[in-house]
Amino acid sequence: MEYDYHASCVPGELTQLTPLVIRVVAPNPSVMTGPGTNSYLIGKDELLVLDPGPDDPGHIQRLVEVGDGRISRIAITHGHPDHAPGARRLAELTGAEIIGRPTPSDSGFSYLDIARHISDSDTIEIGGVTLRAIYTPGHSSDHLCYLLVKENLLFTGDHIMQGSTVVIAPPDGDMKQYIESLRMVRDLDPSPVALLPGHGMWMDDPQEVVSSVISHREMREQMVLDALSNLHEKGLDRWVQLDDILPSAYSDTAEQLHPIARYSLWAHLRKLAEEGKVVTGNRDDILANWQVVGS
Ligand SMILES: [Zn+2]
Repeated sequence: MEYDYHASCVPGELTQLTPLVIRVVAPNPSVMTGPGTNSYLIGKDELLVLDPGPDDPGHIQRLVEVGDGRISRIAITHGHPDHAPGARRLAELTGAEIIGRPTPSDSGFSYLDIARHISDSDTIEIGGVTLRAIYTPGHSSDHLCYLLVKENLLFTGDHIMQGSTVVIAPPDGDMKQYIESLRMVRDLDPSPVALLPGHGMWMDDPQEVVSSVISHREMREQMVLDALSNLHEKGLDRWVQLDDILPSAYSDTAEQLHPIARYSLWAHLRKLAEEGKVVTGNRDDILANWQVVGS
């Protein structure tokens, strides 16, 4: 059989990526989800579905058909609405056990559905194939990546996406944790041979990919600090709001993405406040005032 590692993601399309991995792209393309959510069927004689995606009856039916009676487990990377809600329908149709972490209550996916809770380093056995959970908070507080040990492939969910930048939306999203989780994945030993994201295509050279994501975040943090300092220097009020610095801190980002970028900007400011580089009246308020320490 031919394996098409680098096949592009087309909503509704199925690709056998490796002997143990089939990808089915859910039909939910958008600015936030790229070509759509990737659902992965992992295993051979027995299968686990990772991220069934939204509760889309056609997509879930497709997974059932591809699984052909072999789906015994369902795991989720995190509880966001584009990854988890389909688990319930898939479990009803297959009798499969749902595995994941308790998720924040606003995720649209009640943790009561999860039959087996999983933590960092826990393993799942699927007919002789081992999947290991790696806790990677940041994009969300419940986020897990999964390592397919035999093929040394890392399923990254929304921790690392291909083709778009991950949004970190406080308070559940946390930039400091996110960057720490990125460093942890970059330093995995042995390094995985590839990253399989929740959105977008297979990525070779994991260390290089993750390093460049980290550099991108560091660059953004510097742009945020510069934008704050520049406003202070212009003699404007020492306290500025997030929306005052959004255009310059994200000057390289398309303007139609700014309403989403502002959440990541908030996450950067909260990280900087935690590190004592900026101060704010209320880090939990997106409309709070901020200023650089020492300005
Ligand atoms: Zn997602």
